[in-house]
Amino acid sequence: MARTEKPAPAPPSTACPTCKGSGEVARTVRVGRKHRVVGQQSGLCLTCLGSGEAPVE
Ligand SMILES: [Zn+2]
Repeated sequence: MARTEKPAPAPPSTACPTCKGSGEVARTVRVGRKHRVVGQQSGLCLTCLGSGEAPVE
């Protein structure tokens, strides 16, 4: 019995281009008057507001 291979269904192309669908983006953390960079943390993506989906115009 031959098996027909079906292509996997493509995910909807509405993933946010900024966070790539994760809903989070890496932000640089700065402290002090000199704004010394102390590292990065994940923050809410402001493009999709954390939903991971591209905003519909
Ligand atoms: Zn996003």
